[in-house]
Amino acid sequence: MNEPRRYSASDVALAQFERAVAHMQLDPDLVEYLRRPRRELIVHFPVYMDDGRMAMYTGYRVHHSTVRGPTKGGIRYHPDVNLDEVRALAMWMTWKNALMNLPYGGAKGGVAVDPSQLSRNELRRLTRRFASEISVLISPEGDIPAPDVGTNPQVMAWIMDTYSVAQGHATPAVVTGKPLSIGGSEGRTEATGIGVMITATAMMEKLGMKPETTRVAVQGFGNVGSVAAKKMWERGCRVVAVSDVHGGIYNDRGLDLPKLLAHVARTGTVGDFPEGDQITNRETLTAACDVLIPAALEGQIDEQVAPDIQARIVAEGANGPCTLEGERILLEKGVEFVPDILCNAGGVTVSYFEWVQGLMSFFWTESEIITRLERLMTEAFEQVWQASREQGIDMRTAAYTIAIQRVVDAVEARGIYP
Ligand code: GLU
Repeated sequence: MNEPRRYSASDVALAQFERAVAHMQLDPDLVEYLRRPRRELIVHFPVYMDDGRMAMYTGYRVHHSTVRGPTKGGIRYHPDVNLDEVRALAMWMTWKNALMNLPYGGAKGGVAVDPSQLSRNELRRLTRRFASEISVLISPEGDIPAPDVGTNPQVMAWIMDTYSVAQGHATPAVVTGKPLSIGGSEGRTEATGIGVMITATAMMEKLGMKPETTRVAVQGFGNVGSVAAKKMWERGCRVVAVSDVHGGIYNDRGLDLPKLLAHVARTGTVGDFPEGDQITNRETLTAACDVLIPAALEGQIDEQVAPDIQARIVAEGANGPCTLEGERILLEKGVEFVPDILCNAGGVTVSYFEWVQGLMSFFWTESEIITRLERLMTEAFEQVWQASREQGIDMRTAAYTIAIQRVVDAVEARGIYP
């Protein structure tokens, strides 16, 4: 009967795009062109498991736009990865890179796999085979992957090595988010979480909110959520709730972040941290707080949970954490967004620094990286804020109009071939 339609990340990405286009004067033919990805690669490939069995996996690499430069975007390992999701994530990368004015188009990749179920050797074989399958697309001047959900610097090192072996020489600039020992950048691991903190606190300042009276809740305690929580805590905010896939913890006096991080390093989860009450993932989203940082997966804030959200600011550490309905309900309640393409852009910004350093073979200090990151994030935030207030539109739509205009300018300058 009235079965709700399966959640589609691409539907969300396209609706956000169209909402922004409605505020712009664009050639409708160009709008049609930007709705579609440039190319999509699907690969099915075999991997030998440790027990001698062979398993088949499916992976993807999508290039949404190649107009402003080589494509850039992460690779995700997660059981739910599918073409619709990768296509949406690739489009979001186009807008994110354009908003940050990085000389990149947008891409994303992924493999439908639960990496926690694989041994290190299985993960290495899967990564090498996937890297080889997408090697028709990736290169330092064409398409540069990076970590995303379920991948990390080690996975990037294996991709770099697989590509380099085929080239016959080390090619570090083919991926970013690498270990420091092979040309990674200082500050890359923490960059996304730092960017979340910079943009969330910029929004707090606009609304006259002081760190010492601001309560923060963070959904997701991976590379983005854990660093964002730590940085908000360092800024003097009270981090009252955090959760990971196993569950969450709440303490209205504020969690001791260094202690919590040490606990997670020891046990692998936040859920049984003794200094607080155990809560569910959903209760993290609806906890009494002023700033909510969803830093897990897409579609978490839907029409069911949105009415109960108490935060005044939603700072999107994750890509696409709100459904369209969820976002609409929050906007009607007067919630201010720091949209994903701005909020979590710190990662790809330092990826850009890493790529530039790799191409020059000349490396910057951590403080140079963080200073540059802070400047770019603050400038981008200000631009989006100004556009939003001047045109009376929400922050996401404002961010999109800036990003889309930059891509359109590039399309018009280059012209359509032939
Ligand atoms: N996966 C990250 C993102 O969604 C980083 C991409 C990159 O560094 O290329 O922005």
